[in-house]
Amino acid sequence: MRGRGLVTLVLAVLAGAFWLIQRAPYTVSAVNAAPPLIVIDPGHGGWDPGAVRGVVYEKSITLAVALKLGSALLAHGYRIFYTRRTDTALARTVLDDLNRRAQLANQLQAALFVSVHVNTEPTGTMRGPLVYYTRSRPASYRLALAVSHSLARTVGSAGPPRPIRQWVLEVSQMPAINVEIGFLSHGSDLRLMNASWYQSRLAAAIARGLAHYLAAPGR
Ligand SMILES: [Zn+2]
Repeated sequence: MRGRGLVTLVLAVLAGAFWLIQRAPYTVSAVNAAPPLIVIDPGHGGWDPGAVRGVVYEKSITLAVALKLGSALLAHGYRIFYTRRTDTALARTVLDDLNRRAQLANQLQAALFVSVHVNTEPTGTMRGPLVYYTRSRPASYRLALAVSHSLARTVGSAGPPRPIRQWVLEVSQMPAINVEIGFLSHGSDLRLMNASWYQSRLAAAIARGLAHYLAAPGR
């Protein structure tokens, strides 16, 4: 009886060890799985100011909002990469510059690509953020929808997502959007976009939209 009990015990221990070994790879990979990497692309920079109104440059606003977006995403637990962190261009021509931004995201196998820009239009009547997406990947529309919903809830106005053919969105190989955060041609938008508190609010709203998309089952 004693011997049989010992054998049973040894078998139980072996079975337990086998079960643990079987489970171990899944447990370890679940714990160590890296959070999604989000590439943040502040539009323009260096020799390319983007839209200009008086002394206000699009490139400065996009960088300020992008850096705040990065901080917000880090707080959500995501990994981030900026295509630029200072007032610099990535190449000497617009096309090379845009290619470089998208290629960086592709090389890093980023989960998402988010470009930040500022709109402008001749009538001076349009205002508020708009999210543009590429039709070449259906996931980009769902991403744009999540971000524009979040922006609408936070800043009150955000139109529906708009399809667009933009080089940087076409070349990038992951869900990609361009968030045009407001209109430089609109007086109130101009004042708001220059204010640090509003930039933080926009960044927080974009981050919540991205997090909402990433958390969606079967995205
Ligand atoms: Zn722009």
